Amino acid sequence: MKLRKGDEVEVLSGKDRAKRGVIMRVLTKDDKVIVEGVNVATRHQRQTKPRVKGGRIDKDMPVHASAVALVCPKDGAVRVGYEFKADGTKVRVCKRCGREL
Ligand SMILES: [Zn+2]
Repeated sequence: MKLRKGDEVEVLSGKDRAKRGVIMRVLTKDDKVIVEGVNVATRHQRQTKPRVKGGRIDKDMPVHASAVALVCPKDGAVRVGYEFKADGTKVRVCKRCGREL
């Protein structure tokens, strides 16, 4: 999983294709991420009990990690690789321009 919480990503497929958003949660086990404003499901909740709020509830549903791409400030949606810096730390880089992401 190359994606992290707080990353800006672009959606590559599905109904939200080309939409951009920030990752709110990473579901490592399922290889999925929850992106703000992406794959929003609207639930129509009827007011059954007085204390349960009725109306429409928007919920961001998880999307598969392969359906989104990290956004490079220069190139837009890109493929990501890894590089090791001189001190041994592993960093993510844009495969197109080499910028650290
Ligand atoms: Zn780039």
